[in-house]
Amino acid sequence: MAKSKIYFASARNTKWLYSDSMPGKFERMIEDYKFEKYIEKDEWVAVKMHWGSEGAFRPIRATFVRKTVDRVRAAGGDPFIAETVRIPGLKYLKVANYNGISQETCGAPLVLADGLYGTDNILVKSGPIIGEVAVASVIHDVPAMVVLSHFKGHIQASFGGALKHLSMGGVSARHRAKKGTGRGGMHCLTPDRVSWDMDKCVFCMACLEVCPRKAITIAKKKFTIDERLCWACGRCARVCETGALSDPIDPEDFQRRLMEGAKGVLSTFGKDKIIYVNVMLDMQPECDCMPGADVAIAQDIGILIGDDPVAIDQASLDLLNAADPLPNSLATDLGLKPGGKLLADLHRPDPQFGLDEAVRLGLGKKEYELIDIDK
Ligand code: SF4
Ligand code: SF4
Repeated sequence: MAKSKIYFASARNTKWLYSDSMPGKFERMIEDYKFEKYIEKDEWVAVKMHWGSEGAFRPIRATFVRKTVDRVRAAGGDPFIAETVRIPGLKYLKVANYNGISQETCGAPLVLADGLYGTDNILVKSGPIIGEVAVASVIHDVPAMVVLSHFKGHIQASFGGALKHLSMGGVSARHRAKKGTGRGGMHCLTPDRVSWDMDKCVFCMACLEVCPRKAITIAKKKFTIDERLCWACGRCARVCETGALSDPIDPEDFQRRLMEGAKGVLSTFGKDKIIYVNVMLDMQPECDCMPGADVAIAQDIGILIGDDPVAIDQASLDLLNAADPLPNSLATDLGLKPGGKLLADLHRPDPQFGLDEAVRLGLGKKEYELIDIDK
């Protein structure tokens, strides 16, 4: 079976040359990559990325977004920078600006693919567990896309890369009418399933502060979630350190749901219409949507490009698993040593489970040929 080709530019910069810098290498790599195969003349192209949060201040840097936008334009496409609502839309557009992602820096307009309220979406069949997913209408309709993913850890998915970005990033927080078809359907979290144990609660208010919808009330030793507001994003349960707040999420079930979501989003694109870029810089242990970002768990590795979401994630995962844990990071706090499998040892479940599930769903193949552009 032919392997998927994944191109790689290393983050190492050993010569005093622009062409040897990470931006210079990225530019060389995307110049050689045949964007023209995926993009037709004057076609609208979504450059999909995560804009970070007020505290998670290290999303993909504008320099790489700008170069991607320029390359799409050089290939004849008309690019825009797309994201789905993670926090209330108007606030998110401002956060993107604070984090250096804007039309001025990136050279293309910023678009909320599911509208300011995150409810512009279209239901698409996905798989036997979640049934349908609410794909952001712009992602649903746009003919071509570059998925620009910040590869890093993730407390629930174990890692965030191309597949998770397609799934959680291409689906809206909620559908106006059909419950369970938004991201919550993948998190398997609903307000009535969250359990709160007063005896374990230390009333730190972390859950309340992390909620993007201000859906939680804690008063007179009573915890409530306003179901009308809740997006079922799961952040409240994730930040509770005492176990007072828990959601019965089976980690493998979550991975299966996540991959079904990716399948639903992929079904809205034709063949050879998506390019994937995984940026392995500033690899913090958690998602860019969390309120803060810890230091990187491993040294910068580089940037990868390809057209198979499974192969690019497998290659990225293998690179990160083989990396040494950085001192004074969560990895060393947990006692991880060189020679282990960094990401598999950091978060549960083993990220490989999700990739195997993606293969089973026919989203791509794990076999890849990693081509270093400088070797
Ligand atoms: S995060 Fe946990 S311990 Fe803190 S207030 Fe919420 S439920 Fe209680
Ligand atoms: S799941 Fe928790 S954090 Fe997320 S919107 Fe609902 S109450 Fe808020």
